[in-house]
Amino acid sequence: MQAHSTGFLESVDQNFRHSISFLDLPEGLAERIIQCNSTYTVRFGVRLRGRMYSFIGWRSVHSEHSEPVKGGIRYAPNADAEEVEALAALMTLKCSLVDVPFGGSKGALKIDPREWNPQELERITRRFVQELNKRNLIGPGVNVPAPDVGTSEREMAWMVDEFRRANPTDVVNARACVTGKPLSKGGIAGRTEATGRGVQFAIQSYLRDPRTPGLNGQRDLKDASVVVQGFGNVGFHAAKFLSEEDNARVIAITESDGYVANPKGLSIESLKRHQRQTGSILGFPGATSAAGDMSGIELACDVLIPAATENAIHSENAGRIKAHLVVEAANGPVTFEADKILRSRGIIILPDLYVNAGGVVVSYFEWVKNLTHIPFGLMERRRRERRNQTIATALERMTGKQFPSDMRDEFLEGGAEIDLVRSGLEDVMRSTWARIADLIEERPELGDYRTAAYVASIRQIAQAYEAIGI
Ligand code: NAD
Repeated sequence: MQAHSTGFLESVDQNFRHSISFLDLPEGLAERIIQCNSTYTVRFGVRLRGRMYSFIGWRSVHSEHSEPVKGGIRYAPNADAEEVEALAALMTLKCSLVDVPFGGSKGALKIDPREWNPQELERITRRFVQELNKRNLIGPGVNVPAPDVGTSEREMAWMVDEFRRANPTDVVNARACVTGKPLSKGGIAGRTEATGRGVQFAIQSYLRDPRTPGLNGQRDLKDASVVVQGFGNVGFHAAKFLSEEDNARVIAITESDGYVANPKGLSIESLKRHQRQTGSILGFPGATSAAGDMSGIELACDVLIPAATENAIHSENAGRIKAHLVVEAANGPVTFEADKILRSRGIIILPDLYVNAGGVVVSYFEWVKNLTHIPFGLMERRRRERRNQTIATALERMTGKQFPSDMRDEFLEGGAEIDLVRSGLEDVMRSTWARIADLIEERPELGDYRTAAYVASIRQIAQAYEAIGI
């Protein structure tokens, strides 16, 4: 992969500028929308292993046209302020596109989490939260972080706990200061899988739409070959759902130390177990391993899903990508230049701000759950069960036949939290796809799905700015 963030902010900026040429915005408004409002740099020390270690981190607030602002916190050794600003801008655009009421933010700590044990990471995380809290950069109504690369529900649990300690008189809504928490700490069922699940819904929405070319005319993923870059949270869940539920063949998974491949399809759960046990996907039985080989994303396939970090497909390797469809599960995996090369070669790209929005959508559900203090479905579950039971009984009496036993449980079930979350997420992903596809049908000059997604999103942010008169 290229130097990680070189040109990432520039790519977001170029996409933005290209898209506003299709919009008739009042003078000066485009600048206001794209500029990052503020980036706070924090340096702090933590005494560990008998000495003082210094850390540096950032929290960018890109836009407060809607509050609170929202965005993940990543732990990565190569994080920098520019990367964080690019990611924060994407959050603003993403939230607007999928219509969740947040402005965009993002944070990072320049750290390699593998170099520290869990106790040390906990102390570092808690110290980081103290710094963010001092500056009002964390809190249910101001700024709500979530997991990203290198962080997970474990870090979110530490963060919410530290926030509560620092704000002992504001405990009622404190849980809503962070999303992506474990269930026991106020999380929501389905948040960990949400981004990968959203990737699945995005591909399904694209394939089902008769206005798209599908996969050379194919309208589902049955037996379609898929390559996934990055076997972390997003890559694992996307690969799992596509192979187990849509019968796709995941023929290769790439990681930072090489890739594994099997043209018949990999067993995703077994590969995850192998990775957990050995620390690597390499050496997985039943697949060929290519240690140190970073060219896995260039394998011929129907669908390529970059789910690692930004700039994975750049001007040098774009000519060697052999997929029909590139699905951007990561943020910014295709540079502005590479995007042009891929499209000139007839490769279709589903853009990041749509594809990976599942995380922030379910984060929104979690935030609402924390603020309402009531689990989704609690009030109506039993009533719905009774109503469905009545319908089943009536049907049985009217027809004189038994309700099919294999459908009975599903029909009677009142709707657990996970079902409601998946249903809400699917609805958002489908309706957002319809908005993108309708726009490009109305205005074919937009030319590609990324531009259509940017235009749809910027148009809405512009309306918000105009409404508040700033
Ligand atoms: P993660 O840390 O769980 O996984 C990332 C994986 O990519 C790791 O396993 C890492 O080893 C691997 N990787 C790093 N460099 C690589 C390379 N050059 N080639 C192949 N693999 C490589 O992170 P994640 O949460 O899965 O996030 C992945 C991407 O999705 C990021 O761009 C992130 O911003 C984006 N994203 C995540 C979420 C979320 O909910 N976690 C939401 C929206 C977007």
